[in-house]
Amino acid sequence: GTSGTGRSEGTRVDEYEMTVPSDQNDGASSGGLLSLEVLAILYKGGEAAEQEARLLGTVENQLGLRPWLESEGHEFIVTDDKEGPDSLFQKHIVDAEVLITTPFHPGYLTRDLIDKAKNLKICITAGVGSDHVDLNACVERKIQVLEVTGSNVVSVAEHVVMTILLLVRNFVPAHEMIERGDWQVSQIARQAFDLEGKVVGTIGCGRIGYRVLQRLMPFDCKELLYFDYADLPEHAAKAIKARRVADLKEMVSQCDIVTVNAPLHEGTRGLVNADLLKHFKKGAWLVNTARGAICDREAVAEAVKSGHLAGYGGDVWNVQPAPKDHPWRTMKNPLGGGNGMVPHYSGTTLDAQARYANGTRLILENYLTNKPQPPEHVIVGVGKYETKAYGQR
Ligand code: NAD
Repeated sequence: GTSGTGRSEGTRVDEYEMTVPSDQNDGASSGGLLSLEVLAILYKGGEAAEQEARLLGTVENQLGLRPWLESEGHEFIVTDDKEGPDSLFQKHIVDAEVLITTPFHPGYLTRDLIDKAKNLKICITAGVGSDHVDLNACVERKIQVLEVTGSNVVSVAEHVVMTILLLVRNFVPAHEMIERGDWQVSQIARQAFDLEGKVVGTIGCGRIGYRVLQRLMPFDCKELLYFDYADLPEHAAKAIKARRVADLKEMVSQCDIVTVNAPLHEGTRGLVNADLLKHFKKGAWLVNTARGAICDREAVAEAVKSGHLAGYGGDVWNVQPAPKDHPWRTMKNPLGGGNGMVPHYSGTTLDAQARYANGTRLILENYLTNKPQPPEHVIVGVGKYETKAYGQR
């Protein structure tokens, strides 16, 4: 930023009070008349980001926002340094008015940090899933939380279908065998199945869960089930022939494949634990691209190692980046397969990055010009939840 924040000249508060209309948008700035501090926590893209400009969600490419933000006179601080009291995240959160984060390299905005963030008015998640932000604390502090709803739901749904297929068909060990120079078909085929005729159930049937079931239709599964406190509209359920099961234990006990597609909140943290896993069919597969902490780390690793689960796959981890010794990196079923884990990238394809970068800019523009936000993007409005997806309240 070249024109500074105004804060240093001691004028910021005055300007602020002069230019904010008193109606609606509590705390929004207006008209580009003042400069504000925008802090973004993104992941380091390194060489890849220098070579590929469409890697927008990186520290290098900055969601494509810098030229515009700077031309409007705003200060834009971008860093990947997010852990611990000496991190740039913790240093700059004190003054920032706008925080941009992504679920892929989450800047964990805890209640403690919110207490220190004296100017913070709006958190924007470039992507979908704002569980790395303490939403309850934001409600209390009247900090808005928005995400780019829908921006990567097809990206994730495709990844779920891929992961279901690679687990059911035992793909990963088969490919590893080929790279090793071996050829022993029976070793692979002894645990390879068809998706046709299987029962698939989703925990959470919102935008992603629904799209997963929709994409499974041509595979002629035996049944498509869902567990969600929100009922699908009748026409939507009919269109995919999905059946709602009101009890989670009952649903998982009927499934060959369970996929998790609910946000992480108080009601889903640790939902798939040792107790629930007991109700899974022996040899079922579990796919989770929602959030790592919805599944209990040790219980899942145990279930795969014992063969109670034939496999587990997904891209989300309870802590990100995942530590080198995280059991999900290397867990295998007794026959040496059943691991479909990758780093968190299902929702960050280049197609998805274009959409959430655009969406982030739109939210910022609305904020700066005091325009209403698209309602579907608002997770926490001023002082209250605006969505039912993060728990029944
Ligand atoms: P959505 O809001 O459209 O749907 C979420 C659904 O989950 C809703 O229908 C809600 O009622 C349901 N739900 C909430 N709590 C539940 C519970 N306790 N039990 C059963 N159902 C419950 O959201 P979406 O766009 O489908 O995204 C879902 C989640 O997927 C996000 O919150 C995010 O955590 C995750 N996600 C991951 C990636 C990735 O890259 N891996 C990308 C996008 C989203």
